[in-house]
Amino acid sequence: MIGMPGCVFCRIIRGEAPAVMLYEDELVAAFLDIAPVAPGHTLVVPKYHAERPEELPAEYLCAMMKAAALLAPAILEATGAEGYNLLVNAGPAAGQVVMHVHMHIIPRRRGDGMRAIHVPGERRIVSHEELRPVGEAIREALTRIKGR
Ligand code: 5GP
Ligand code: ZN
Repeated sequence: MIGMPGCVFCRIIRGEAPAVMLYEDELVAAFLDIAPVAPGHTLVVPKYHAERPEELPAEYLCAMMKAAALLAPAILEATGAEGYNLLVNAGPAAGQVVMHVHMHIIPRRRGDGMRAIHVPGERRIVSHEELRPVGEAIREALTRIKGR
């Protein structure tokens, strides 16, 4: 389950590659990102090789969120950051480079210059008429997926 050949996160979890480990339990490990965007940038990684969140058994999804909620205040306290972003890049189009699911905890400070997905002023509020067809298509897809 954590033995995917060539997967660097599987290797870290198995203790075959080095990492600055912060937290570990039966289901997840959390360690510092090797190329931090801010001090304390952390990765929460399930002990289960899957590429995307939707491929993970639910217990791993829960464990990832629980670990993030446990770690975030500790990261803030230790680094003096004021807030944080939780981020999962799913798929290369979304910026995923390591193809083993992981959640970034990115410590943030006011004025740190990092871009958030929500940039005030850069988006336009659209009408519900414009939103509705997308909502309908997603709800239909959800029904299909749940039926599989
Ligand atoms: P992604 O773009 O896939 O969401 O993010 C992958 C992250 O993993 C990057 O932020 C990158 O710096 C980090 N990373 C890649 N290889 C290693 C490694 O060997 N060790 C650690 N600690 N982080 C890594
Ligand atoms: Zn892996």
